[in-house]
Amino acid sequence: DANRFDVLIVGAGAAGMMCALTAAQRGRSVLLLDHSSKLAEKIRISGGGRCNFTNLNSRPENFLSQNPHFCRSALARFTPQHFIAMLERHGIGYHEKTLGQLFCDDGSEAIIAMLKSECDAAGVRWCMPCGVEKIERDDEFVVTASHGKYRAESLVIATGGLSIPKIGATPFGYKLAEQFGVPMTRLKPGLVPLTFHPEEWAAYAELSGASLDAVVSFGKHSFRENLLFTHRGLSGPAILQISSYWEQGMPLSIDLLPDLDAHEMFLQQRGSKMLLGNFLAQYLPKRLAEIIAVQWLENKPLNQYAEKELRTLADKLKKWQIIPSGTMGYGKAEVTCGGVDTRALSSKTMECNNVPGLYFVGEVMDVTGQLGGYNFQWAWASGYAAGQAA
Ligand code: FAD
Repeated sequence: DANRFDVLIVGAGAAGMMCALTAAQRGRSVLLLDHSSKLAEKIRISGGGRCNFTNLNSRPENFLSQNPHFCRSALARFTPQHFIAMLERHGIGYHEKTLGQLFCDDGSEAIIAMLKSECDAAGVRWCMPCGVEKIERDDEFVVTASHGKYRAESLVIATGGLSIPKIGATPFGYKLAEQFGVPMTRLKPGLVPLTFHPEEWAAYAELSGASLDAVVSFGKHSFRENLLFTHRGLSGPAILQISSYWEQGMPLSIDLLPDLDAHEMFLQQRGSKMLLGNFLAQYLPKRLAEIIAVQWLENKPLNQYAEKELRTLADKLKKWQIIPSGTMGYGKAEVTCGGVDTRALSSKTMECNNVPGLYFVGEVMDVTGQLGGYNFQWAWASGYAAGQAA
C-alpha cells in the first residue's frame, strides 16, 4: 500500500527532519508532512539568519520544564558534537560567538539544505504543503490530509510552538495531545521582550535604543547580559532570558551597575560639586543617567544631597524593582514555554506512556531552552531519540 508508512511525522521543522532522517536511516519507511510551502522557515530566520544551531555547554540546567530531569537522557545521547559531526560531513563552516553559542558561517539555509539532503539520501518521502484534516486510530494511525489518506504504525508530532504565527506556527500539537488525552502544562510566550503600562513607561520611553550591561533577576534566576530599552519596555538578551522564568504580576530586580559598589561610589564623591546626572553618566548610558537623575531624585550637585538620599539611590541602582505589565506576545517571542507534559512521555523515546506509537518531539513539549542555541539542541536531541525508536 503506497499510502502506508512505518512512521508518519507531522511538522518538517528542526525536530521533524532530525527524527525523519534518523528513522529512515534505520530502514523505516517515513513520510514527512508539513502545511507550509516553505521548508523550515524557523531555522531560516533563526539567529538573525545565521542559526545559532547548538550550544557547546548544553546541560539540563539550561532548560525549563515542570519535569527538569526529563531532558537529561536525550541530551546525553545526542550531543552538540553529534550535530557538529554532521555539519563537518557536509563541509558547512561554523564559528563560536560567545558562551558556547555556535553559528553558521554562511547562513541558516546551509542547515536546512543539509537536513533535507540527509532525509532524501535516507529515502524520506515528503508531503508539503499539506494540511492535516483529522487523525484517528484503529490498530494504526489514520491521517486524513489534504493530499489523501495515510496509515502509519508510529505518529510523531513535531509541529513546534505558537511563536511567530505569520510563518506557520499553529496549536496543532496541543490540540492533538488533547484529542488523545495527553496532559499539557500551561503555555506562555518565552524569550520575549517585556512591556510596561504606557503611563509608567513614559519616563523611559525616550531611552528607546539605549542599552547597557546589567544583571536581571527573578527569584533564584539571574542573567548578566545586554539590557535594551524599547519604546514599550525592555528587551535584549538579559530580558529575553528572564522572560521565560518571569510570572505575570511579579517584580523583576535589575542591577544597573553590576561591577560597582554603588554605596562606596557615592561615599567617595559626597563632597563633590558635580551634578548627579553627569556623575552617573560616567557609569551608565548618558540618556539613562539623566533620566535617573531627574526622575528618581532631582538633578543637583552631589554635595547637596543628604547621605540617606544617596544611600537610597545606590540601593535602587543595584536593585531596581519593576513590574512588567506583560510581554510582546507570541508575535515577538522566540519560543513557547510549556506544552505537552513530559511526565506523560518516555524520556528514552518521547513516546506517550498511554498511547503506544504516538510521539512528541521538539518545542511542542514542555522543554524550553534558554537563549543561546539550546532550543535547537533540544529539537535535534528529542528528534533523534524518537527517530531511534519509532
Ligand atoms: P519548528 O522548527 O517550529 O517546526 C514546526 C513545523 O511544523 C513547521 O515547519 C510548521 O510549518 C509545521 N506545522 C505547524 N503546524 C502545522 C500543522 N497544523 N500542520 C502541518 N504542519 C504544521 N533556537 C535556537 O536554538 N537558536 C536560535 O538561533 C534561534 N533563533 C530563533 C529566532 C526566532 C525569530 C525564533 C522565532 C525562534 C528561534 N529559535 C532559536 C527557536 C527555534 O527556532 C525553535 O525552538 C525550533 O525551531 C523548534 O523546532 P521544532 O522542530 O520543534 O519546531
